[in-house]
Amino acid sequence: MTRILIAEDEARIAAFIEKGLRSNGFITSVATDAQSTANMALGSTFDLLILDLGLPGKDGLEVLEELRGQGENFPVIILTARDDIQDKVAGFEAGADDYMTKPFRFEELLARVKARLRNSSNQQATENTVIQIGSIVLDLHTRKVRVGEETIELPAREFVLAETFFRHPGQVLSREQLLDRVWGYDYDPGSNIVDVYVGYLRKKLGGDLIETVRGIGYRLRT
Ligand code: CA
Repeated sequence: MTRILIAEDEARIAAFIEKGLRSNGFITSVATDAQSTANMALGSTFDLLILDLGLPGKDGLEVLEELRGQGENFPVIILTARDDIQDKVAGFEAGADDYMTKPFRFEELLARVKARLRNSSNQQATENTVIQIGSIVLDLHTRKVRVGEETIELPAREFVLAETFFRHPGQVLSREQLLDRVWGYDYDPGSNIVDVYVGYLRKKLGGDLIETVRGIGYRLRT
């Protein structure tokens, strides 16, 4: 499952990109200003960011520099109306992998998204893709989990949920954060889907691995 964050304050454009990406099998989230882009992208499990530069709050370039400064290395495609050479150079210098100008055709954006994802998965293959907490090892590449001597396979959503916890050990994650990161779209806030899936993980990975933080969400014990 590939998750793409779209930072775009123009609702019409954001909806257009979302619709296209979803119909091509991607999971999408939209951030409509600079602050929420940074919040959602930092420490996240997104695979790619499509970044508008003219965002409310802060310039997209500043957000990009902040993300790169924090070590976030997912591919970033800038999508902007700014078409000066200087702007493009500044975009690449801030850490963008690609730069596309508006108006744009969705087919071209999709081709660029796929190309960037291809590059980054090649890169990841040579990077360390294993996260271990206690006796549990998550292999992000094969998507298998080793619990002690046993290797188990988790269904896709459960794996992404486990990955989200393992990337933030000891950190309290709210139901909303988990919904957003794992399911990637708005769910009925009254839904108990997060609780149900945490229950699945507890059954498979150990009952005391994920603790409930009353009124807030969950935390992975370290
Ligand atoms: Ca804009």
